[in-house]
Amino acid sequence: MKRVYIKTYGCQMNERDSEAVAAMLLRRGFALAPDEFSADAVLLNTCSVRELAESKAVGKAGHLCRLRKKSPDFLIGIMGCMAQNRGDALLTQVRGGVDLVVGTQQAHRIPEFLEELFARPNRGAPILALDAAEGSQEEIKDHLRCRPSAFISIQQGCDMRCSYCIVPKTRGRERSRSLAGIVAEATKLAEGGTKEITLLGQIVTSYGRNLYPKIGDKSPFVQLVEAVHDIEGIERVRFTSPHPHGFGPDLIDAFARLPKLCPFVHLPLQSGSNRVLKAMKRPYTRERYLEIVNALRAARPDISFCTDIIVGFPGETQEDFEQTAELFDTVKFEMAYIFKYSPRAGTPAAELTQALIPDEVMQQRNQILLEKLERYSLTANEKLVGTTQRILVEAPARKGQNIWMGFNPQHRKVLFETPPNTHPEGQLLNLKIERASAATLFGVME
Ligand code: SF4
Repeated sequence: MKRVYIKTYGCQMNERDSEAVAAMLLRRGFALAPDEFSADAVLLNTCSVRELAESKAVGKAGHLCRLRKKSPDFLIGIMGCMAQNRGDALLTQVRGGVDLVVGTQQAHRIPEFLEELFARPNRGAPILALDAAEGSQEEIKDHLRCRPSAFISIQQGCDMRCSYCIVPKTRGRERSRSLAGIVAEATKLAEGGTKEITLLGQIVTSYGRNLYPKIGDKSPFVQLVEAVHDIEGIERVRFTSPHPHGFGPDLIDAFARLPKLCPFVHLPLQSGSNRVLKAMKRPYTRERYLEIVNALRAARPDISFCTDIIVGFPGETQEDFEQTAELFDTVKFEMAYIFKYSPRAGTPAAELTQALIPDEVMQQRNQILLEKLERYSLTANEKLVGTTQRILVEAPARKGQNIWMGFNPQHRKVLFETPPNTHPEGQLLNLKIERASAATLFGVME
């Protein structure tokens, strides 16, 4: 039986794709290897969002070629965004070459490609599969097991054209899965013990807009959230990533109406300066962003916010940055993904070479926001000391015996100790919070 190891870089979409491919491989008679050294084939599921992520994956692929010395039949495959972005150039860019390059819309065919490669008497020519395939969305539905909290991929691709972003190139046009297919997947997961579903996509709030009409004022995305919310056994619903553009009154109202919709929103800001937002081609202003935050707080007073911010977008002045910092102070984000701008070839922003911000300035701005994040995160967590939090227990904590990890509805991580031989995975428990750090709450069972 051939053993395959999958190494994943990048976002939750990639994590989810890797899991689905792993489950498909098991179904087709492959085994999963715990590391590259015990594998007959390694798949690198890659990311293109920043240059560093691509260089790491190319370096790793080159390094893997050494394993061919021990076993000439050893196969190396590259899938995901970098495979789509660089395509056949990878055949020469990776020292030693690769056997398989699979784009983002062909991942469901990986078992078939590996079977073909393993059946060959010699390595032969590499397989390249980079086509866009309408309908392949439905294929990414297999799970390795029904975890307490599961991700469901609901759409891929993006029709927005943010000037810095490579995603429209790597993931293609917006494509949504059928509502019935998603509900069937969530129902199956619920029957297997899953309690929390996170609806996943590049731009989830655009879900189904080319497939389904609005019903009354409800967008197809809100219709989907309601359908998953109503599944028996599902106790929590989340989604990521939305676009501020998608927060119409119907979605804001959903937070007030649907108790299982968790009071946690990942709302990408990118910049707090209207001038920079315009240059980024983000179709909202700082005023509109704050309006959404305030409307969501009115609908759900216990809501907490996470965001994405890019510092050092070409031409970002000190004043632009201060507007971002000020907006950060206003919202008091408790979680944030803060990145230094990384030019991606083929995007309009990559042409703005005259306006590049020096790295030390980007670093300084990055640090200022990270310090704010640490402060707001800690303050929010400290407020929860002495309260009782409802936790979905997900897994044993990485460190410590009999320590388990779960999340509250606002997605704050909680660690707690249990008596030996206790297995609370998948349970919803009430925990009394005893202490807090910026990243973690520490609780005890009531
Ligand atoms: S909305 Fe998100 S995925 Fe789409 S182009 Fe903009 S940043 Fe990229």
